[in-house]
Amino acid sequence: MKQGKIIKVAGPLVIAEGMQNTKVYDVVRVSEQKLMGEVIEMRRDEASIQVYEETAGLGVGAPVYPTGEPLSVELGPGLIEPIYDGVQRPLDIIRSQAGDRITRGIDIPGLSREKKWEFKPSVKSGDKVFEGDELGTVQETVLVLHRIMVPPGIGGVVKKIEGGGHLVTDRIAVIEGEDGKDKEITMMSKWPVRVPRPYKEKLMPNEPLSTGQRVIDAFFPIAKGGTACVPGPFGSGKTVVQHQLAKWADAQIIVYVGCGERGNEMTDVLIEFPQLTDPHSGEPLMLRTILIANTSNMPVAAREASVYTGITLAEYYRDMGYSVALMADSTSRWAEAMREMSGRLEEMPGEEGYPAYLGTRIAEFYERAGKVTCLGSDNRTGALSVIGAVSPPGGDLSDPVVQATLRVVRVFWSLEDKLAYRRHFPAISWLTSYSLYVPNLREWIVENHGEEWVANVERALAILQEEAELEEIVRLVGLDALSADKRLIMETAKSIREDFLHQNAFDEVDTYSSFDKMVKLMELIMLFHGLSEDALEKGVPVTEIASLSIRERIARAKFIPEEKLDKIDALKKEISRTFEELTEKVATEA
Ligand code: ADP
Repeated sequence: MKQGKIIKVAGPLVIAEGMQNTKVYDVVRVSEQKLMGEVIEMRRDEASIQVYEETAGLGVGAPVYPTGEPLSVELGPGLIEPIYDGVQRPLDIIRSQAGDRITRGIDIPGLSREKKWEFKPSVKSGDKVFEGDELGTVQETVLVLHRIMVPPGIGGVVKKIEGGGHLVTDRIAVIEGEDGKDKEITMMSKWPVRVPRPYKEKLMPNEPLSTGQRVIDAFFPIAKGGTACVPGPFGSGKTVVQHQLAKWADAQIIVYVGCGERGNEMTDVLIEFPQLTDPHSGEPLMLRTILIANTSNMPVAAREASVYTGITLAEYYRDMGYSVALMADSTSRWAEAMREMSGRLEEMPGEEGYPAYLGTRIAEFYERAGKVTCLGSDNRTGALSVIGAVSPPGGDLSDPVVQATLRVVRVFWSLEDKLAYRRHFPAISWLTSYSLYVPNLREWIVENHGEEWVANVERALAILQEEAELEEIVRLVGLDALSADKRLIMETAKSIREDFLHQNAFDEVDTYSSFDKMVKLMELIMLFHGLSEDALEKGVPVTEIASLSIRERIARAKFIPEEKLDKIDALKKEISRTFEELTEKVATEA
């Protein structure tokens, strides 16, 4: 294809003329060094190119080579385990070939061309297959069975299929299409990152993505296939929340996109993630994780590509019928990259210098989340849940990126540094967080955990809200000014906060709560509250209730292991007995 010529270099933005044959979002190779770039705007024969590598030293007149292809990722076995940069280059291989400073123009494929994978066919010659159907499987890691699917747009009769050890580029099957033409299938396929992968139907997200974190699962649940946003003021425990989600969320595949805050933070992720253990299998969590990291020696423009690379890989596993959770940290950095490019393109700036299309881009990204019926005759369902972290300057939630995000996501976990200072973890505020999935999930939750649970959760939230109002009064006139029933509200709120919401990620037992355990813990607290209300009516002083020693056992109940939940039931009986004795004692004294 005819090459173009650089006429201007402005940081990561390069403008080239003579590019009439390229389209927006095509990949080009810039200069003799073959730096990777993507066309982001065309004016006549002039292409504006976002270059994903350091552009220092590039000069006017240098050649630009079109590839005629959009920015794409390689899909197939081998995606799990390597750590990728924003354009799917395996970082460890780059490092071993080029040392810590990435040599520019390095071109390493996303999938290894040397590794053989054991392919087990699930169809035979003569079978009719449709797009999305499973041709066979590969055990990608001990934790992930990789489905090799008929690529979208292809279908017909299987003429040949070969099991055994294959490279991703080997032909594993031949499919004769309706048009009588043969189509050779390899385990590897490609997909343009800016185009959502197809599915049959989008379904209503009506099942919770359980996370084992009580404040989330009980109060602010996210649905499988849902979207959530979490801000992370420094030291608020964002990293711990992310690790907890990666470990415990009910998802078979985790995709973590790190849009580097600062270089060293990214390094932390690269060191920490590989050390996490999958709690269900005891294997390294990396065996079901895809990690995409923009390292500090890549220019900001690469952040822009990384979120698309990440979500495309996530969609691919969704298409296999998996529950996939993608975490992007931080989408604010991604938006800043957009702002920088937009500024260099001299586009009309919107709010705070962000481009006017900021909101559209953010919405398009989150719209790729969802629970879907996948392509394929078996009508399997897959889900892609997306959790985006935002980091507005100064923690200011009126920031345009946060606002644009909140318009599209349905859950907001409000991490607050105030709570973290008080050592309340996870520091997710019960007053400002929300989940708009609650009505959708209600039917599933009632069916699985009963009406009482739903009522208890609503009651608990109301009590916490009342506590916030009462705190104001207490600050002014002191605790003693409160009536007995208000005092009780304060006591119960404290118990909800400390005995239920507070969850220690580093405690072997407390780190995870099953739904069953959560339900039982809440029952304990609410039983105590209900019996206390009755006792107050019978004239028991609130101070006596507050000093009951059984409250300590309620506080410790969260440390009861999952296999001994009957101990919580036993404790319930004891609470009832304690109150019977207390009211009797008060009655005889009177
Ligand atoms: P951030 O990433 O927001 O800067 P971290 O996630 O590293 O903050 O958390 C800071 C510290 O807070 C942790 O080292 C830990 O001591 C404490 N912490 C955070 N979350 C929890 C939790 N769920 N349980 C116990 N301690 C926590």
